[in-house]
Amino acid sequence: MRVVLLGPPGAGKGSLAGVLKEKFSLAHISTGDMLREEIKKGSELGQEIQTLITRGALVSDELVTKLVAQRITKGQDLKKGFMLDGYPRTVKQAQDLDEILKKADLPLDFALNMEADSTLLLKRLTGRRVCRKCGALFHMLNKPPVKSGVCDACGGELYQRTDDNEETIKARMQVYEISTQPIIEYYTSQHKLKELDGNLETIDLANAVTALLK
Ligand code: ADP
Repeated sequence: MRVVLLGPPGAGKGSLAGVLKEKFSLAHISTGDMLREEIKKGSELGQEIQTLITRGALVSDELVTKLVAQRITKGQDLKKGFMLDGYPRTVKQAQDLDEILKKADLPLDFALNMEADSTLLLKRLTGRRVCRKCGALFHMLNKPPVKSGVCDACGGELYQRTDDNEETIKARMQVYEISTQPIIEYYTSQHKLKELDGNLETIDLANAVTALLK
């Protein structure tokens, strides 16, 4: 199965990715993670990316599409299927993705869209903590780690993303509405869109997606 995960920041794309990985062994391709890896390298490009992410702005279509094309062309691990998380984010990216997947003979099956209440999105993002080592997700109130600041899964250090503050979150929401929401129409017209309730917490989300994809 090959899917894209759609929805505003905080809708639960990362949690859904965790569920799909476990249930369907899908490879997880996250452009946000790829860009954060580039930042870690400390390159000049990484610094430019960091500035954009911290402002809540999008990185150029050209750069992210290049990263995704490389990942898909090289991907030996994509045979069982994959999910794209955070890509596409513009209609141009959606069109380019169709081209890339056509060439690779790996067409998309579905676009899974999640919507959630805006107050919930804000709460989830401001309380979110991420493991620096394994990427596991925690929440200060809803899913705190057993030991403060330490990942339950691997013992890695937990951190707060630089774009998970209220001001940047508002900018990200606006960017989502203007640039990303039109993609929903794009996949609707291809009859690929499926809806999931982003207000659900992870366990219920797991049941809902299993029922949806049966
Ligand atoms: P979220 O979905 O929670 O906003 P991501 O980790 O997917 O988080 O993305 C974080 C940031 O990385 C975005 O706000 C944007 O600056 C950049 N980014 C990620 N994916 C893309 C993309 N496909 N196109 C442009 N910028 C992107």
